[in-house]
Amino acid sequence: MRFACGGISRFIDQTGAGLAMLKMATDRVENPRSCWPNQCEVLHLAQKTDACTVLGLGRRAVLWVQGCPFRCPGCVAPETQPFRGGETVDVGTLADELNRVPDIEGLTFSGGEPFAQAAALANLIDQIRNRRPDLSFMSYTGFTLEYLVEHGTNAQKTLLRQLDILIDGSYQADRHTNLRWRGSDNQRVHFLTDRYRHLEHDLLNDRGTWLEFVYHSSEQGEPVGWWMGIPPQAFREAFEKKMRDSGIRWAVSS
Ligand code: SF4
Repeated sequence: MRFACGGISRFIDQTGAGLAMLKMATDRVENPRSCWPNQCEVLHLAQKTDACTVLGLGRRAVLWVQGCPFRCPGCVAPETQPFRGGETVDVGTLADELNRVPDIEGLTFSGGEPFAQAAALANLIDQIRNRRPDLSFMSYTGFTLEYLVEHGTNAQKTLLRQLDILIDGSYQADRHTNLRWRGSDNQRVHFLTDRYRHLEHDLLNDRGTWLEFVYHSSEQGEPVGWWMGIPPQAFREAFEKKMRDSGIRWAVSS
């Protein structure tokens, strides 16, 4: 975005689906309120993992939600923008699943736009925190913190109060950066609780590229891989071209 939100890109060898990069028509959100219905029992997910070390502190579970009202040119995950598709999951079931994930520092929400599903994510945090008060919660958003505080819905304000870290602002390609966790330098890291505040100075000034590659076999025995993180500009296109040139076909994650 490139990347207001931590990217994820997935390949499945042997699938016939090719890469479908979507061309976005505008760079502004047309309706900042457009989102899934304000429901708290189901979540629309593009992807999830229970082990990621590049989108937040420590080893974290990450949820990439489906649907984003922003249309940032250069978004690293345009397939997560439509408010359709993805997987619809029951929040209680997802909480049970996440409560069983061992050895994680916390959970990160990316997307897609997490604050377009604020009621469901706030409900999810409640159900996890009840059983695992040690976990931390971090979220990306294309909104600014000021917008959410002043104009956010009740659900968005509730979600905000539950987070330890918020990374705000939509991705601006002409301000691409390698600042930790951010895609462009307009994005800010807000420490909303004291939990990590002692790390604030080091984290805010840290630079580099953190990408994580994961490979495993699907239930059908197919080799499956994906990368996670905030890549350099044009990384995804170059990487996926290289894979295609090597005879490995890609499928978008939605
Ligand atoms: S805010 Fe939405 S459009 Fe912008 S980079 Fe993130 S997912 Fe993509």
